[in-house]
Amino acid sequence: MTDFGDRIMRWYRTSRRDLPWRHTRDPYTIWVSEVILQQTKVDQGLGYFLRFTGRFRDVQSLASASGQEVLAVWKGLGYYSRARNMHAAAGMVVSEYQGVFPETYDKLIKLKGIGKYTAAAVASISGGEPVPVVDGNVIRVFSRLFGIEEVAGSGRSFKRVAEKSLQYIHREDPGTYNQAVMEFGALFCKPGRPDCPNCIFSDECFAFLNGKVEQLPVKRPEIPRKTRWFNYIFAVTAQGDVVMQQRRDRDIWENLWELPLVESGHLLDPGELEASGLWKQLDPYNACKAVLLSDAKHILSHRIIYARFYKISGILNMHLQSGSNYKLIPVDQLKYLPVSRLMDRFFQDQVY
Ligand code: SF4
Repeated sequence: MTDFGDRIMRWYRTSRRDLPWRHTRDPYTIWVSEVILQQTKVDQGLGYFLRFTGRFRDVQSLASASGQEVLAVWKGLGYYSRARNMHAAAGMVVSEYQGVFPETYDKLIKLKGIGKYTAAAVASISGGEPVPVVDGNVIRVFSRLFGIEEVAGSGRSFKRVAEKSLQYIHREDPGTYNQAVMEFGALFCKPGRPDCPNCIFSDECFAFLNGKVEQLPVKRPEIPRKTRWFNYIFAVTAQGDVVMQQRRDRDIWENLWELPLVESGHLLDPGELEASGLWKQLDPYNACKAVLLSDAKHILSHRIIYARFYKISGILNMHLQSGSNYKLIPVDQLKYLPVSRLMDRFFQDQVY
């Protein structure tokens, strides 16, 4: 195919969605949108984008916020390491580039948390640099159109797709070209069954002409998800404070807040929970009972979490010792804490 670049740009001009980050070339704004939209659908990401850029209007305001503030604005989006990396990257931009957000691939790729995809997106859209972006949508489009049969997500697939895209990239407007390919993958050449007979590439598409649309791109064999069982205790003191802790270990939800937790090999029944060391710490005189509130299943990229929420019957008379991992948080302050989506859903059902 010789005119892929022109055809995809023509399609984009008439079919693209009107999204706020498409009205700017400001590298900070483009960067925020690209990070939020990784693994998040546009409909869901849009609200977060507006909230994030409303609160942190530029890289200076992001750099000068506290880590907890950034996590609180990010709350609910998941992938919290991204928010922490963005905060660190903003600090680097302020200290190393005097607050001027870089626009070249070589500088961008050195910032914390910025990988090849984001660096290429910002460099091409803001800086006009002809570097191809390669994400899941781009891999699907090129694998099908040109019969690339490497496993999607592998280094070889990335290399072949990047080389192919570079062949067609629009030298004067690489940002629009990159967005056009991504948008075509998101809206037309979709993962399920795309409308191939009405596609602008149906006359030359390898997958369509060879009956391989559903086989391409070649999928990576699934990695089984690890299962974990979390038993949470909702404990409220006589003063109306909720016992909370901050996750510290290098594990999921690092630095986020949650209720006191007993992790076990299965979901505990009330008797098993009352026999746990944590329960005895919260209820040393054995005066209360565990009352089941709810169960939830939460799926993360590599884990399935079965969660059970208990409350402590009766009022706790708890005095935290200094140095304790637990903190007492007034109930009306809970909504300001950065918490996982699982915890947020529980609070929305039971507290907010
Ligand atoms: S013909 Fe089908 S598989 Fe090929 S590019 Fe178009 S939508 Fe995708």
